[in-house]
Amino acid sequence: EQKRVINFCAGPAKLPQTVLLQAQKEMLSHNDLGFSVLEMSHRSSDFVKILNKTESLLRELLNIPANYKVMFLQGGGSGQFSAVPLNLIGLKEDKCADYLVTGTWSAKAAKEAEKYGKVNIVHPKLDSYTKIPDPGSWTLNPSASYVYYCANETVHGVEYNFTPETNGAVLVSDMSSNFLSRPVDVSKFGLIFAGAQKNVGCAGVTVVIVREDLIGHTLKECPIVLDYKVQAENNSLYNTPPCFSIYIMGLVLEWIKNNGGSAAMETLNKQKSSIIYDIINASKGFFDCPVDVSCRSRMNIPFRVGKKGGDEALEKEFLDGASKRGMISLKGHRSVGGIRASLYNAVTLEDTEALGAYMKEFLKEHQ
Ligand code: PMP
Repeated sequence: EQKRVINFCAGPAKLPQTVLLQAQKEMLSHNDLGFSVLEMSHRSSDFVKILNKTESLLRELLNIPANYKVMFLQGGGSGQFSAVPLNLIGLKEDKCADYLVTGTWSAKAAKEAEKYGKVNIVHPKLDSYTKIPDPGSWTLNPSASYVYYCANETVHGVEYNFTPETNGAVLVSDMSSNFLSRPVDVSKFGLIFAGAQKNVGCAGVTVVIVREDLIGHTLKECPIVLDYKVQAENNSLYNTPPCFSIYIMGLVLEWIKNNGGSAAMETLNKQKSSIIYDIINASKGFFDCPVDVSCRSRMNIPFRVGKKGGDEALEKEFLDGASKRGMISLKGHRSVGGIRASLYNAVTLEDTEALGAYMKEFLKEHQ
């Protein structure tokens, strides 16, 4: 067996071994056809089978109501920062949208939306991305076309453990980094999008789940490949979709289903993240996670080592030691520094326990 490292990357991230082996097995010949998914026409019945299988697995795992369309698009999560306002900001006359800005990714989305309409940040500006402002302090604009938030901020490790209440307004969520890591009631949302490369596959495909009645208000300047009406009418086949990424997503969704679905993922993700947070909490500040306990992410755990704000020399030593133990991609995002452990679905309990054991050892040696 080939040696594999323990990968805590924030994305593209670790994939389940069975998925990689299946893709490897089918690399030369998919379903005994004598050619690979990489070489297959997106219009062929064989590819359409893959596309439909992936969609139906997603519908099953998320219990997506029949009045929602599912699309598999290119352009990444960032593409959706533009596609969301281009398709939805025209829902109401004022062309205005409400944004919750709780980290890098929602900040970028809000900035992009400003190109197409008026953006209202519904809460007082945060001086650091370490908490979710109390919903009591939000001022939603009744004439906004939608309310937008990022369910899990990958860089800052801030995750909503509740669904924002919008008094009936259309709710839009970027679930790129916690998609299918926990159950979600899709019927509460107007639109959910997620890049695949963290919890449900490899880079190249972004899932968009949108309520049908919201489609068809696209601004004229919207690039056709981002137009939900066009893509939904064409079953994501207006142009060549990211075929192989869709195929890989299908394999990952099968793996999630075989492992108990989103509820089982949640149980495991709670358990995994608690291992690391318990060590951080017991370390008397040696490991310092700046995020408020009420919104600490189960997916991405940022922390500093040595002291509040971090001791960079110790952090380097921590990363070097991790790498010697076969643990990679623990370096925090360049904008925040320190360490970040990403514990997506495919990261196992054993992987997490190995990190926990190393953290305890490091603490003992240095405290
Ligand atoms: N949203 C979130 C929450 C993300 O973590 C990322 C990427 N890390 C993006 C959006 C942007 O995705 P992409 O790089 O696919 O454009």
